[in-house]
Amino acid sequence: MTENPTSGRARLRDQRRPDLDSMYTINSDGSRNMIQVADVKGRWNTRRNLMFALLIVVYLIIPWINVGGRPAVLVDIPGRAAHFFGMSFTNQDFHLFFFVLIGIGLGLFLVTSIFGRVWCGFTCPQTVFMEGVFRPIERLIEGRRLDRIRRNEKGGADKVWRKALKHLAYLFLSWNLAIAFMCYFIPTREMLHAIPFFTGNTSALLWSLFWTAVLYFDYSWFREQTCLIICPYGRLQATLVDYDTVIIGYDEKRGEPRSKGVDSGGDCIDCRRCVDVCPTGIDIRNGLQLECIGCTNCIDACDTIMDKISKPQGLIRFDSSRGFETGVSKLLRARFWIYAAVMAALLGLFVVRAGDRKPFSVTVTRTRGLPFVVENGVIRNHYSMLLQNKTDESRVYFVKARQDALAGHAGIEFLIPQERIELAPFGDAPVTLFAMMPLSNYVAPEDFNFTFSDSAGGIADDVQVRFRGL
Ligand code: SF4
Ligand code: SF4
Repeated sequence: MTENPTSGRARLRDQRRPDLDSMYTINSDGSRNMIQVADVKGRWNTRRNLMFALLIVVYLIIPWINVGGRPAVLVDIPGRAAHFFGMSFTNQDFHLFFFVLIGIGLGLFLVTSIFGRVWCGFTCPQTVFMEGVFRPIERLIEGRRLDRIRRNEKGGADKVWRKALKHLAYLFLSWNLAIAFMCYFIPTREMLHAIPFFTGNTSALLWSLFWTAVLYFDYSWFREQTCLIICPYGRLQATLVDYDTVIIGYDEKRGEPRSKGVDSGGDCIDCRRCVDVCPTGIDIRNGLQLECIGCTNCIDACDTIMDKISKPQGLIRFDSSRGFETGVSKLLRARFWIYAAVMAALLGLFVVRAGDRKPFSVTVTRTRGLPFVVENGVIRNHYSMLLQNKTDESRVYFVKARQDALAGHAGIEFLIPQERIELAPFGDAPVTLFAMMPLSNYVAPEDFNFTFSDSAGGIADDVQVRFRGL
């Protein structure tokens, strides 16, 4: 008897399977293979949903919290300042970001070396909003996986209105998320007055449209491709994990040989449930792959199957490669201690440098024209500086030549056109200073200092410059 080519069994047999040689989400002709992820329930899914709910609340609520009269987290680009839980930083503190960025990077390395991609599966905003918001909406409007597949194949009005409704909901959500994201750059109260049309603030309007488009494109179509193609962290996995890293893996010893019957062969019955629930379209039974974002869907899916066939859970589970092979795991190893030591050193440096910050800064800038001139037997040096108030209050500053400036030279004079300078919060102002010396007293270039002092804080800072002549 010949098999009907459109029968369910024939279609399943002919269905393309994920492999290690190609990306399952891209067809051989380069077109996109949109995967329909199956629903999954289980203990890890419950934990992840709780984590998603918590993080969504945290992401959305932070801009609304005020600390010391300012938003808890705000990057004020026009004001060239950033506020972080009561601490304020200006562009002059930008070097501190070096410690922050390297610290975050090393933190990710440390966690990844121990627990694999838990960041991707549990806390990355891409996953949190995709799995915690957009995917559930798709499920609500278009139904479960099989319903979606059937409707997509069949077409018709039922498909069209559901798709239209879903995309409208996605657009609305993307716009709201874009606004929520921009609240990290524009204070929430200003945003509330500006939305929905951003009257008078064209750049905010354009940014909101830009981010809405980016988020809509990402969550409605691009989806897992962000993790597979764009995310640099994902590309680094091969170098971050080792034999002892806890990963999500398939217990080959226990599962193979795969068997269709439940009483013979290994425990894997090749039901492909673990593949159907995978949001990146891979088959975890092929081994650890860069595409695995550690979402735990396959663990829950396989545990459910094991329950059904009365086999112990954990055919797919969290374990290290060593654990899968030998049953023994070793979490704390040299790699962990090295990352932890470097992180601790960076944290220490950050604390020292942040604690050392002065409430104002003075930068010597390039002077236009010649740095000195000789007129009527007198050398005149000209200095340009930029004084910046790094606090969120108005401050008054005084500038003078330090007492020992060019001491030992007769006839020295300093010309300070503006000795008292008042600056707005985070404001700055150029400062021009002159030093004069009779040509007959000049011997060689010599360094000296101007002193800037903050009248409120009583803090003084010496700025070294060089007197030149001939
Ligand atoms: S869900 Fe479990 S039993 Fe089913 S194919 Fe995957 S590993 Fe095998
Ligand atoms: S292989 Fe498992 S853990 Fe990895 S992405 Fe797929 S479903 Fe998630």
